[in-house]
Amino acid sequence: MAVERTLSIIKPDATARNLTGKIIAKLEEGGLRVVAQKRVRWDEADAAAFYAVHKQRPFYQDLVAFMTSGPIVLQVLEGENAVARNREIMGATNPENAAPGTIRKEFAENIERNSVHGSDSAENASLEIGLVFQESEIVG
Ligand code: ADP
Ligand code: MG
Repeated sequence: MAVERTLSIIKPDATARNLTGKIIAKLEEGGLRVVAQKRVRWDEADAAAFYAVHKQRPFYQDLVAFMTSGPIVLQVLEGENAVARNREIMGATNPENAAPGTIRKEFAENIERNSVHGSDSAENASLEIGLVFQESEIVG
C-alpha cells in the first residue's frame, strides 16, 4: 500500500448540526491525517465546477442547492490507501445501506444530506484537491 491523499468535504447538513469535530475524530481514529483544512461557503459556480461530473444526473440541481446552502469544511486527508480508507470510514452513499460505525450511518440525514464527500479514485482525488487547495495550503 502507498501513502495517498484524498479530498474530503464535511457537508452543510453536518456543519449545521455542529458535527465537524465528531467527523474529524472518526477520520483520525480511522488512521487518516488532516494535512489541509478550510471552512468555506460555496457559491453556485464553485459547486458546479466541483460536481461537473454529475451534471446529467437527476439530483444535480438539488445537490448544488444543498452544497451552497451553508458552510462546508474542505480537507485533504493523508494516509495508507487514503482514497479507499476514507470511503470505508464514510460508509455507503445512502445511510440506510451504510455499515455500523461509519460516518454516514451515524450522522447522515438521507441519501443527499449525507454529511461527507470523499474522492472515489486516486485520479479524481488529485483533480479535486487541485480544484480547491493551493499546494502551499497542504502541510503534511
Ligand atoms: P458518493 O458521495 O458516495 O461518492 P455520488 O458520487 O454518487 O456518491 O453522489 C454525489 C452526491 O450526490 C452524494 O454524496 C449525495 O449527496 C448526492 N446524491 C447521490 N445520489 C443521490 C440521489 N439518488 N438522490 C439525491 N442525492 C443524491
Ligand atoms: Mg462521488
